[in-house]
Amino acid sequence: MLLTQMFRRIGRDTASAYSVYSQRQSMNSVRSVRNVSTSKRLRVLVDMDGVLADFEGGFLKKFRKRYPQDPYITLEDRRGFWVSTQYGELRSDLCAKAISIWESKNFFIELEPLPGGLEAVKEMSRMENTDVFICTSPIKHYKYCPYEKYAWVEKHLGSEFLEQIILTRDKTVVTGDVLIDDKPDILGVEPNPAWEHILFTACHNKHLPPCPSKRHLLSWDDDWRGVLEDLRR
Ligand SMILES: [Mg+2]
Repeated sequence: MLLTQMFRRIGRDTASAYSVYSQRQSMNSVRSVRNVSTSKRLRVLVDMDGVLADFEGGFLKKFRKRYPQDPYITLEDRRGFWVSTQYGELRSDLCAKAISIWESKNFFIELEPLPGGLEAVKEMSRMENTDVFICTSPIKHYKYCPYEKYAWVEKHLGSEFLEQIILTRDKTVVTGDVLIDDKPDILGVEPNPAWEHILFTACHNKHLPPCPSKRHLLSWDDDWRGVLEDLRR
């Protein structure tokens, strides 16, 4: 190889090595800026009924309208997660009547949003390094409920949120860092779910004895931002 060709080749190799080096340096500096400005990526699962949508209030209103002669349970007197169980204890025929309410057309779509829930979820989804999913269990009477849950999300949160719905009867198999849910015991096939359960206060669970090992959110006015920041650490 002639001396001039050799020098040209060395020059090319050096330029190419420098180009790779500078690309790597620039990627490293992007990464380090990201690491400085943000922290751990967080996947937040938010329940729907009793957390975003006012299931209990909607139920009581429709129950009283459909069965005006029958006794009912005020929200203050609600105890236990299952509405139908407490109504069945009040009078045996009321269990089926209660179930008939949420199995009816337009029950789920007409639920009112709970105060602050929609704003919180929208804010979370705008947060850096945060993925938000609405994780909800449809009732087994599937004629209206799954459709209306999608329609409710579209109506109140916009069509872009339809990408962020998880419908499942078993939330233990879903992976996430946190699940905000008003059900005190969330059980399923996975004995050790990936998420930490944050109990969202509702009329049916506020009388339960405090569980020191479990975090709570009293409402969407509570410090949910602080809880998420804590979970990132
Ligand atoms: Mg719920």
